[in-house]
Amino acid sequence: MKKIEHLGIAVSNIEKSNTLYTKLLGVEPYKTETVAGEGVKTSFFRVGESKIELLEATNADSPIHKFIQKRGEGIHHIAFDVADIEMETRRLVAEGFVVLNEVPKQGADNKKVVFLHPKSTNGVLVELCQETEAPKSPGNTGEK
Ligand code: ZN
Repeated sequence: MKKIEHLGIAVSNIEKSNTLYTKLLGVEPYKTETVAGEGVKTSFFRVGESKIELLEATNADSPIHKFIQKRGEGIHHIAFDVADIEMETRRLVAEGFVVLNEVPKQGADNKKVVFLHPKSTNGVLVELCQETEAPKSPGNTGEK
């Protein structure tokens, strides 16, 4: 693991939270992005070497909607930057961690991502992420 890449925060209203976090951090989000497959709208702020990701649900099936229903707004996940996500995933599976998707999927911010089940990590949803070389062109989403 190279560093904490970002902290993900579940919010009910991303426009309001963008304003709030812009005040808090003194910078505006450098990007906003909707990840349709995950049912989320995201925005990213740089904080030194790390980032803050705000996530708002776009539908009732979204994991963010379920999270907020259950626990309210707040820290949703910690994302670690890894050099080789396939290798790191194999290592963690071998160590006994429960992986939600063994095959990395396309996440926000040009990242390949793998999530670990909070039950195997003391209640914390852990995201592994690796930067992809270039944004994928639509229609080329890789193997399912
Ligand atoms: Zn994230």
